[in-house]
Amino acid sequence: MFEAPKTNYRVPRTVSSGQDETEGDGVQVRRLIGVPALDMVDPFLLLDVFSVTGNQDRQTGFPSHPHRGFETATYLLAGQVRHEDSAGHSGLLKAGGVQWMTAGRGIVHSEMPEDSNGPVAGFQLWVNLPKSHKMTHASYQEFDANEIPLERRGAQVTVKVIAGTTGRGTTGPVRQPLTEPRYFDFQLGAGAAVVEPIPDHHNAFIYMIDGAIEFPGDDLSIHPLAKETVAVLSNGTELRVSAGTDGARFLLVSGRPLREAVARSGGFVMNTLTEVQAAQEDFRLGRLTG
Ligand code: FE
Repeated sequence: MFEAPKTNYRVPRTVSSGQDETEGDGVQVRRLIGVPALDMVDPFLLLDVFSVTGNQDRQTGFPSHPHRGFETATYLLAGQVRHEDSAGHSGLLKAGGVQWMTAGRGIVHSEMPEDSNGPVAGFQLWVNLPKSHKMTHASYQEFDANEIPLERRGAQVTVKVIAGTTGRGTTGPVRQPLTEPRYFDFQLGAGAAVVEPIPDHHNAFIYMIDGAIEFPGDDLSIHPLAKETVAVLSNGTELRVSAGTDGARFLLVSGRPLREAVARSGGFVMNTLTEVQAAQEDFRLGRLTG
């Protein structure tokens, strides 16, 4: 008897528009991952979307705060962010650039938006580290916009490749073999289609920056994905989407799940509560120096 091949397309399994959170010294962020509705997408612990309007009187941002046990990946769409840490590392992240920080055993840092004219906008993604690497030394991977490859697929589709390798062979500059992250920023013209392989063992999500995309199939329960929503994708080996009449821009992020216990509080993500308490104690004693 003939049996139709089981579809391998990844489609939205959970869709969420997140919730507003106040971070730093009063910055409003939209948290898509790391909230009760969507606790995590292993190995991704948190996704924040921020858009700060410059204010010449009072520059709000993310003053001195600690991290231990994971990585923070900041991808900036507009403006610039000055950062400085307890290990003496500092710099300026500019629009289109990415900072992939391995906090490891711990750092204390500040991240302060600098433009006073326009918005400072972007994303912060938290990527977990396995138990074996949570106490590694802190390190950075930092790339300006011109160091992030732009893959062109005809006139209608471009992909900025931050991490991992696309189905067409473009490799981004960020390296992390522990979780194999893929981090792609897709831009589609009106009605344009994308076919993109995703490793079957990866967990994957899409964040819609702008426009809308549709998924294949005649399952009416799968609605088009709208602007400013996150969709956790089902298992499968391939993404197939097409943009609506306004085109679309979205992040496609995937990675190898760690499947380890997660104990988190504030900027500390460990495996046990005892380890979180040890991190808080080390922070109090000024020991988070990279
Ligand atoms: Fe931080």
